[in-house]
Amino acid sequence: MNPTTSNMTAPSVALVRCSDYELERVTQAVRQAVDLLGGMGAFVQPGQKVLLKPNLVRGMDPERAATTHPAVVAAVARLVREAGGLPLIAESPGGPYSAATLRSVYRKTGMLWAAEESGAELNYDAEGTQVSHPEGQVLHRLDVIQPLLEADVVINLPKLKTHNLTTLTLGTKNLFGLVPGSIKIGYHAKLVDRELFAQGLLDILLFARPALTLMDAVIGMEGEGPSGGDPRQIGAILASADCLAVDTVSAALVGIAPQEVLTTRLAVGRGMTTGRVEDIGILGEELAPLVVHDFRPGIEMPMDPGILPGPMRLLARLVSPSPNGEENDSRGVKAMRVLAQGWVWRQLVARPHATERCIACGFCAKHCPVNAIEIVGGRAIMDPKTCIRCYCCHELCPHDAIELSKPWLGRLLMPR
Ligand code: SF4
Ligand code: SF4
Repeated sequence: MNPTTSNMTAPSVALVRCSDYELERVTQAVRQAVDLLGGMGAFVQPGQKVLLKPNLVRGMDPERAATTHPAVVAAVARLVREAGGLPLIAESPGGPYSAATLRSVYRKTGMLWAAEESGAELNYDAEGTQVSHPEGQVLHRLDVIQPLLEADVVINLPKLKTHNLTTLTLGTKNLFGLVPGSIKIGYHAKLVDRELFAQGLLDILLFARPALTLMDAVIGMEGEGPSGGDPRQIGAILASADCLAVDTVSAALVGIAPQEVLTTRLAVGRGMTTGRVEDIGILGEELAPLVVHDFRPGIEMPMDPGILPGPMRLLARLVSPSPNGEENDSRGVKAMRVLAQGWVWRQLVARPHATERCIACGFCAKHCPVNAIEIVGGRAIMDPKTCIRCYCCHELCPHDAIELSKPWLGRLLMPR
């Protein structure tokens, strides 16, 4: 059996309606979802240390829908305490990792309130440890925040939102926040293309082994996620012992084919999931009436090259992940790929640029994994040749000053 799944043959996902973030309503919905899976006692034993891992990408008001809502975190922490567990809220947001920055992020994202409401502790230990990860495919050593190593149980609390590297930020991507602070920058630099990065995320999932993944899909984010998009009412809580099953159903919930999410597609290749909603037992609500059909994806979404005319189709195929695995491509195709994924790739994929909102604070330059940003004439300037399109700057700019735009060829070939 795969270690990320409680039941590889038929994973279950609980799907429950939840219209807003009123704490008692959220607690009821979370309780209903967890009860459908056997109750919190199926995941947490009395006296166990339970790490709650929300998505706190940066210090933002919960109303902006970039972070897991504090009512969801408080509701889960309440159930953990009822089961006799000791909940600890822990996350390494983007940017520096210190007790002072954690305090600021907790205040802005409502985690101080969530902890007070539920009796959970907040993590201020900014230490990390490097561990060996023999099961990893691309990350054989892994840097993780200290509370992960001290926890008996991990509960993963992602937010359903768009992401320009992985299409959606779901349960798997959320676990990247277990890598401490600016070490994340090194991972972006090392796992330089999207596929490698997504394989790294799967390695982190295999290491973290969340016992439960509970998705905040009450109000998600559409458009320019993971931090610059728009709040979008979805009205659901999803939960499962199988993180990839939550990711699969969550994608379907917003009308996106589950395997358009790169982590899910690659997980299928690794035998970690089938990536098919049909293979999942959905408990509680039916999926179809809850699907948001006009959910707006991010600027950088994969597309089906089959819909393009001849030469463009070939080009698009060369810059897309190989359906059979690139190791199985012929030598000619491999050579064309190298060419296409260099110059051509830069003409297709959205690039970041700073707008007039930039105040030249330099935060993006400090966190660019490949030093592609310079402050010139009072504004951040990104070098398109050096930039690896990790979109960390777009995600982290405290002034929302960075926008993404596609070159004309990208708009022509990949209009979504
Ligand atoms: S783009 Fe944002 S983070 Fe970068 S220098 Fe300008 S304001 Fe600062
Ligand atoms: S410029 Fe922005 S998108 Fe490009 S590599 Fe640096 S942080 Fe990533």
